[in-house]
Amino acid sequence: MIFEEVKALDKADPLYTKRFEFDLPSHTIYLDGNSLGALPKSVKKRVSEVVSQQWGNDLIKSWNNHAWIDLPISVGEKIAPLIGASEGQVICCDSISVNLFKLLCGALKLNSTRTKVVSTKDNFPTDLYMVQGVTDLLGENLCELELVEEHLIEQSLNQSVAVLLLTQVNFRSGKLLDMEKLTKLAHEKGILVIWDLAHSAGALPVELDKCNADFAVGCGYKYLNGGPGSPAFLYVAKRHQTSVKQPLSGWMGHAKPFDFEPRYQAAPNISQFQSGTPSVIGMSALDAALDVWQDVDMLQIRNKSKALGNLCLELIRQNESLKGLQLCSPDTDEHRGSQLAFAHDHGFAICQALIEKGVIADFRAPNILRFGFTPLYTSYEDVWQAIDMLSNIVKNETYKEPRFNVSLKVT
Ligand SMILES: *Cc1c(COP(=O)(O)O)cnc(C)c1O
Repeated sequence: MIFEEVKALDKADPLYTKRFEFDLPSHTIYLDGNSLGALPKSVKKRVSEVVSQQWGNDLIKSWNNHAWIDLPISVGEKIAPLIGASEGQVICCDSISVNLFKLLCGALKLNSTRTKVVSTKDNFPTDLYMVQGVTDLLGENLCELELVEEHLIEQSLNQSVAVLLLTQVNFRSGKLLDMEKLTKLAHEKGILVIWDLAHSAGALPVELDKCNADFAVGCGYKYLNGGPGSPAFLYVAKRHQTSVKQPLSGWMGHAKPFDFEPRYQAAPNISQFQSGTPSVIGMSALDAALDVWQDVDMLQIRNKSKALGNLCLELIRQNESLKGLQLCSPDTDEHRGSQLAFAHDHGFAICQALIEKGVIADFRAPNILRFGFTPLYTSYEDVWQAIDMLSNIVKNETYKEPRFNVSLKVT
């Protein structure tokens, strides 16, 4: 692959102009949208309007007049088509961790003759920590976590398992699990499944309804570009909404919050999964960010994501000085999400050197260098430039400089 061919890929890309809907800093190549999505221009405008006009001027009237109170539902409905969910099943609220707590407790109670929660050893730690917290709260006789290797998930499914908790795309390796198949196998054994879509919502077509999914959670600040700490979302299949109960029974999940009744009565729909007052500024930012998706075909996203990943892989493989990078992601694009991970003994320092040179990738302990591809605003030329810089840093051993070897609080 030569530079002219890469330029031609950008020219032919139907999503190329989408990047102009984002406020991207100049002299920066951003390959970390899988950790914190870039800033859509629509968000800048909306946040300033929400703060100055809606809050500043219209004050408390805005709960009705600017429909602040409906944001959890209206934002949930904007996310729904991106994850293959029909109406009334998605709500925007809290963080993934908190939403997992609600769904774990709810699912365990639905399947109360069983106690086991199966998940994978290298799942994103917060998912596992939340199960451990539920075990502490309820006791091991009601919630028992069993961790298995990713390739042994199927073998671990049996009649003692209550809940299968899986992340569709592994945060480190980018490995994509087969949602349809695993959900079906779990259901055959009477197991309820919670899917974590943190690295799949907005990165590839997700088909929750079609896969007959039970529950799901997902992230607002990664591929959906809602901004740092943006509220997350959760999905509960219609068929479970009348039987499932979640324990964080705050007033916003009440059937009639403004009746101020002393007795809790859950809303008979997805609203019951709210707890407290929505974070209006953050949720408005996510709401505006979701407008970017209105005319986007998820199949185009998937095709470009694969092409960006394949280009990155090809450029690394054809470069003699990058032989020390060991691919930790699946070799074929069908089995990957929208990122590539490489192991390298100096992964951390290489990543720091890249960032100083304006190429933002990220590092995941113990030695993984991770490149995320966000088809809405990553260009093929970005990938070319990034690998060119990577090659210089490795060839010249720039990463050995002491300033690239100082540890950081957030990586
Ligand atoms: C990013 C991420 C989270 C984040 O959880 P929060 O509680 O929203 O901070 C959870 N799970 C996975 C798989 C993630 O990648």
